[in-house]
Amino acid sequence: MTLPLRPIRHTAPVLFSLLFAVSFVWNSLPFVLPLPGPQANQALADGLDKKPAGTPNPEIEETGPRPPVEVDPKLVEEPVRAVVSGKVVLLSEALARRDIKAYPEELRGQVVLETRDGGLLPIIPDWRGRALFQDKRLRDRPVDLLVRQRKSIPHLQVLSIYTFDEKGTRQLTDYWCDICSIPMYEIKDCECCQGPIRLRYQPKQLPADLVPPSGQPAPAQPETSKPTK
Ligand SMILES: [Zn+2]
Repeated sequence: MTLPLRPIRHTAPVLFSLLFAVSFVWNSLPFVLPLPGPQANQALADGLDKKPAGTPNPEIEETGPRPPVEVDPKLVEEPVRAVVSGKVVLLSEALARRDIKAYPEELRGQVVLETRDGGLLPIIPDWRGRALFQDKRLRDRPVDLLVRQRKSIPHLQVLSIYTFDEKGTRQLTDYWCDICSIPMYEIKDCECCQGPIRLRYQPKQLPADLVPPSGQPAPAQPETSKPTK
C-alpha cells in the first residue's frame, strides 16, 4: 500500500509554494494599500496623490528659507474685454454640487459664474457686479457677462449683464427709474427721486468687436421653449 504516502510527499512542495506566495503578497501590500508605515508617511509627505510623471513644479524649492513674496500690483497685466457665458450661482451651492466641503459662514453671499464646461469664475462685487450678489432674479439663468478679465486673476470685473428672454433674445439687463429716466446698476432707491427702481431688459446684441469665446455655443434657449423658425 503506497497510496497513503503519496499525499505526504506532495504536501511539502505545495506548502512551500503557498508560503512563498503569501509572503510575496504580504510584501507587496504597502505598494497597493495605504498601510501605515514609512511608505505611507512618505506618500503623505509627497502630497498623497500620485502626480503625473514629468510635471515637477520648478517654483517649489525643496529646502532653504522661503523667498519673500513681493508683488508689484502694477505688474499685473492689463485686462482684456471679453464675454463669458454661463449662469451665476451661489458659490456654496456650486461647491456642494461638486462634493467640495466648505464652511458655509465664509461662503455666505458669494456668487460665481458657472461656465458651460463646469468652471467657476468668481465675480468682483463692484458697482456693476454687485447686482449679481443682490438680485436672485439675475442668478440661475443663462447669462452673457461682458467683463474685464486678466489671465492671472480669476475674478471677473463685470461691465454689462446680458440675460435672455423666453425666446432666447439677448437682453441688456440693468435697473431703471421710470420717473427720472436714469439707469442704475444695483438695487437701491433712485439716486435722483429716491423712489423705487425696476429691473430693465433691453434687447441688445453684444458689442460688435466681441463674440462669445470659441467653443461656447450661442446661449441656449430655455429648455422649456422650442426654437422658433
Ligand atoms: Zn428716480
